[in-house]
This record gives sequence, structure tokens and C-alpha cells, in this order.
Amino acid sequence: MTMTQAASPKLIKGATGDWEIIVGLEIHAQVTTRAKLFSGASAEYGGEPNDHVSLVDAAMPGMLPVINEECVRQAIRTGLGLEAKINLRSVFDRKNYFYPDLPQGYQISQYKNPIVGEGEVIVDVTPAERIVVGVERLHLEQDAGKSLHDLSDAESHVDLNRSGVALMEIVSKPDMRSADQARAYVSKLRTILRYIGSCDGNMEEGSLRADVNVSVRRPGEPLGTRCEIKNVNSIRFIGQAIEAEARRQIGVLEDGGVIHQQTRLFDPGKGETRSMRSKEEAHDYRYFPDPDLLPLEFDQAYVDALKAGLPELPDAKRQRFIKDYGLSPYDAGVLVAERASADYFEATAKGRDAKLAANWVINELFGRLNKEGRDIQRSPVSAQALGVIVDLIAQCVISGKIAKDLFEIVWTEGGDPRAIVEERGMKQVTDTGAIEAAVDAIIEANPDKVAQAKAKPSMLGWFVGQVMKATGGKANPQAVNQLLKSRLDI
Ligand code: MN
Repeated sequence: MTMTQAASPKLIKGATGDWEIIVGLEIHAQVTTRAKLFSGASAEYGGEPNDHVSLVDAAMPGMLPVINEECVRQAIRTGLGLEAKINLRSVFDRKNYFYPDLPQGYQISQYKNPIVGEGEVIVDVTPAERIVVGVERLHLEQDAGKSLHDLSDAESHVDLNRSGVALMEIVSKPDMRSADQARAYVSKLRTILRYIGSCDGNMEEGSLRADVNVSVRRPGEPLGTRCEIKNVNSIRFIGQAIEAEARRQIGVLEDGGVIHQQTRLFDPGKGETRSMRSKEEAHDYRYFPDPDLLPLEFDQAYVDALKAGLPELPDAKRQRFIKDYGLSPYDAGVLVAERASADYFEATAKGRDAKLAANWVINELFGRLNKEGRDIQRSPVSAQALGVIVDLIAQCVISGKIAKDLFEIVWTEGGDPRAIVEERGMKQVTDTGAIEAAVDAIIEANPDKVAQAKAKPSMLGWFVGQVMKATGGKANPQAVNQLLKSRLDI
């Protein structure tokens, strides 16, 4: 093993040496559509149990599935956003298994011929670490219903509202080497889906959930046996599940045991994974083409038209923000993480000092929104109002410190920032006479500090503080600094 490998933060220390974690993810993303994949029933979240169930979703005898064109359109758009190959011909297959919440006795999915083939996602894990995660495929499939075991002691209930809802299953290659990389990948994928508008990415409502494949190996060795952790529904839990599962596997292997391919569950309360069942092989599902559905075919012109209609995606937007606004790659990345934030920033920055605008959006606005758990769409401070605050700072009408007070007033009370500054006398004092008076008063009152400052020029900060305090924070800081330096002769 080389020194660089040993020093890599990707490796974890076991009792008998270093191990590498290998992660691949299967993301189930619910397609944003009104109706289900093969029926006209509502795909809306919630509702009373079994409110959104057609005869097709309940698998009544003789019912036939009819493909929802909007789901096909969204799958293609998503594939294009993942820089992936779009297959002009794909096939729906039956994946056979028994479960009470699956009335058909099979799930309609795509097996050998998915609608979308190989693609890739560029992921910035940290400002210093960029990885490219390969996408193996994206296919369309039906969601299952939900079994409810906690409504009664004696019986289980089945809610078929989710049955038949359209999912895109996005399968990555095993290209991730840490929990951080996996978290960053899911977060980037979610951003892309939300930009495209093909999935709302709402993990609490289960619109986006991950099956996490984890294995470990000695650096440089072939891939180990993997275990799959099913249906993890938050980015934080995905990271925790990977770390817990890797630790478990390393423990087993270091004790001389072997890893059996398994499907496991993550228990966030205990911070551990536990076995659900031994993993099925594909042949256990007896896949075969669904005889009720023709192969799905469309032409290249359709794909090209969808490509032309895609919005600007996050990677392109980030590049543009760096180039056009002179932002740092990090700031640009933060701003484009949500389309709404990027739009807000552009509305604030237009025709202004863009770096100053970015600072205010990222530090003050995002900080305040996070504190109150609000979306940027419901920000009490509009982009237009924040733009005016940025103008007032850039024109030296107010200091940065007063601007924070002003921001707070606009946040809580609303109103026009420029008018508030006038009415409440918040203008910066640039009048040298007024500042001079304050400076002289401070110097006169503190002869001992003046003597100290001659020997120790860093005392200047204390004087600046006193003058700012005496002027209610409204003195222009540059003017105060200059005056003090000349008066103190330092
Ligand atoms: Mn699936």
C-alpha cells in the first residue's frame, strides 16, 4: 500500500488494517404527474386510505394498463439531465413476487431494456473534492401499495393509494467511496430532478428514497459481497446507514466470517442495520415482457424537442454565475442548489455589486430563512428589497452593521428599505465634523489608553469601537479609522 492511500480519508481503519467502502445507490424517484403510470387515478400524496385507486390499480380481472405519456416525457427529460443515453425502444416487464400490498402479484417494471441507459452526475463533495458518479440506467416502474400493521392488534390493513404510482428507478454504478460522497450524490441528483421538475424530491413524503448497496474490501482487491439497505428516506440516514453497515461488515470479516448477500433495514434509533431477508436473484422474479403492453417506442425528433425545452441545469448555471458575476465556485454552488435560490439571487444582483449581493443572500438571508425553517419563496424580504439594501451599502448610505439592523426591520415589519433609512435616521455619518467631535471626546476621556496605543498600535480597534458606540454605529468606519490614526499619530 502506498503512503497516499494510507493517508486517504476514504479508508477506514479496522483492527487488522485499512478498508475501503464501496457504495452504489438505487434511487426511487416519484414522477411528478397528476395520474398514475398505467391508470387515470390520482397520484397525489395523502388522501383517505384507498381513495386514489382505480380498477387497474386494484388489479381487478380483465383490467388493462395504458401508459401515461407524461411519465414517459418526464423520464426522457430526466435522462437528458443525467447526460444519459435515451433508448428509443424500451420494454415493460413483469417482476413477479407475492406481497399483500401488490394485488397484481407482479410489479410492472423494465428489466433488460430500460428507457434510459448510461449517464453521469458530477458531484462536488467538498469545495476541494469533485467526483463523477456513473449512472447505470433509469427505468420506469410502478410503486406498490402500503401495508399498515399498527391499526389493530389482530389484523393488517392495505392502502392502495400508492399502488401504480409512477417511479423512476435511477441506478448508479458502484462509484462512491464514502458516506459523504453518497450523501453529496443524492443531494445533487435531487437538485437536478427538482430543476427538471420531474420529481419534487420530497423525502419526508417518500417521493425520493434510496436503496443503498454497501460492500467493503481491502484497498486494491476485487469487490466484496454487498448488502442492500432498503428504502432509506433521508440524506442523513443514508450516510448513517452506510457507516453502520460498513462497520458491521468489517467486524464480520475481521472475525474471520463471510458476508452473505442480504436485504437489510436501517434502524435510525439504534443506528444499526438488521437483516430482512436473504437477497433475491433476478431469476427469482421470473421476469418476462408484459403481454398487456407494447414495447415503448418514440423517435429522435421527440427526444430532441424535449432536450430543447429543458431549463438551464445546475452545472451550467453554476458556471455562468462564476463567469458572469465573478462569484467563487463555492458561492455559486450554494446559490444554484435550488432553482428558486438562484432566481432570487439573480433578481437581487441584477445591475448591482454581485459579490455583495451573493454575500447578503447566502449569509443573511439563508441564515434567517434556516432559523425560521422557511422556503425562499416565502421570504418576507423580497429580492427587490434586498437589492435596495445592497445599493444602500454600496453607495455608503449605510454601514454593513446598520444594514443588518435594516434587514431585520424589513424582515419583521416590511416596508421600503430606503424610506426606513430616511425615517429612522439610519444614514451613515460621513460628516467629518461630527466624527471628529466624537473622536476627540474619546481621546480626551482616555489619556491612559492613548499612551498605551502609542506603544501598541493594535489598540486602535478599541478606539474605533468606542467611536462607533458613541455614534450609534452610524459613523463611516473608514473615516473613523483615518481620523484616529492621524490624531493618535500611529
Ligand atoms: Mn425498483
